[in-house]
Amino acid sequence: MSTARAVDLLADEVTFGPGTVARLPELVRELGAERVLLVCGRRSFEASGAATVLPELEQVAAVHRWSDFSPNTDAADLGRGLGELATFRPDLVLGVGGGSAMDMAKLLAGYGGRVPGDEIVATIQAGGRIDARDPGLILVPTTSGSGAETTHFAVVYTGHDKHSIAGPALRPDRIVLDPSLTLSGSPYQRATSGIDAVCQAIESLWAVGGTDASRTFAREALAVLLDHIEAFVTAPDDTAAAGMSLGSHLAGRAIDVSKTTAAHALSYGLTKRHGVSHGHAVATSLGPFLEAHAAASPDQLQAGVDPATHDAAVAHAVAALGADDGPSARRAFVGLMERIGLEPRLSELGVTDEDERAALVSTVNLERLGNDPVRFDADDLTAILRSTG
Ligand SMILES: [Zn+2]
Repeated sequence: MSTARAVDLLADEVTFGPGTVARLPELVRELGAERVLLVCGRRSFEASGAATVLPELEQVAAVHRWSDFSPNTDAADLGRGLGELATFRPDLVLGVGGGSAMDMAKLLAGYGGRVPGDEIVATIQAGGRIDARDPGLILVPTTSGSGAETTHFAVVYTGHDKHSIAGPALRPDRIVLDPSLTLSGSPYQRATSGIDAVCQAIESLWAVGGTDASRTFAREALAVLLDHIEAFVTAPDDTAAAGMSLGSHLAGRAIDVSKTTAAHALSYGLTKRHGVSHGHAVATSLGPFLEAHAAASPDQLQAGVDPATHDAAVAHAVAALGADDGPSARRAFVGLMERIGLEPRLSELGVTDEDERAALVSTVNLERLGNDPVRFDADDLTAILRSTG
């Protein structure tokens, strides 16, 4: 039932359903493209089943495949990709893969023909918006999690520095949401990606930047994700895959507007310093943040946040988890993590002392924290980290 409601919320440019990857040649023709730069993962392109469409795609366009980049999109890789693009001169960039492949394809399409590869680091550091692009862009996610196929921003690292590049041109012309491509990952991969989408939906519900429209996406996303995430990880079938595909896409629509909040802000250091996968890293603090958001009094909220709106957002998340207050919602969320095989205790993930907790807190991007409805200081964040056990 929640799946049918989610389908109704899809935008016109989305082609959804099992097997829809086969429609790629038709979409490429529709966009009038003749030269396609295929940006995809080294192994996931074959493993996901997406590669089966390649022979037919090659009937309608010249296809040049580029997979020479690592996860966590890096400026040096992007610079090389821009070199490929300058040589091949595609009229369409086709991104197929997980969140990193989506971001790489978006940035290549956005910067392609506009920024030379050797100027990319300076361009990223300057941080300008990408308002227009030359090649077309089609995105085909092979994981259910990031929602990156539908957001107008992309993450890229220059060395250890994380940048978020934004602009309307980073949104694709077409999206193919084919759940059958998302089943080849390991249970851990499905769990960490899936819980990322759950966290994005919950954070979007209470984000300062949220709107009525983004909260509608977040609520529908959360309902469908929670219905399907356990089966998707432990005994995946077509129904669970379809639910997760829709849920993670709608959570992407939600954060495209609202952006994420403190749990995401705290997670990046955990990924960089301790190698904890993105969604898993976000989830470790989401439970404590649920409890803290439920407990926040009106004077702890950011200026301009309406206490009634905040209470309604938190109440929705609590109820969606089948709980009736902050502490029980936290227990429900931690229980979900355990059932899908994600360790919830930071002490078990390498964060073992106060110094390390302080180091993590010092990595937090303050701008992102301003999007959290509750004002947290460094001590609050340290206490959140400590409380995971
Ligand atoms: Zn995320």
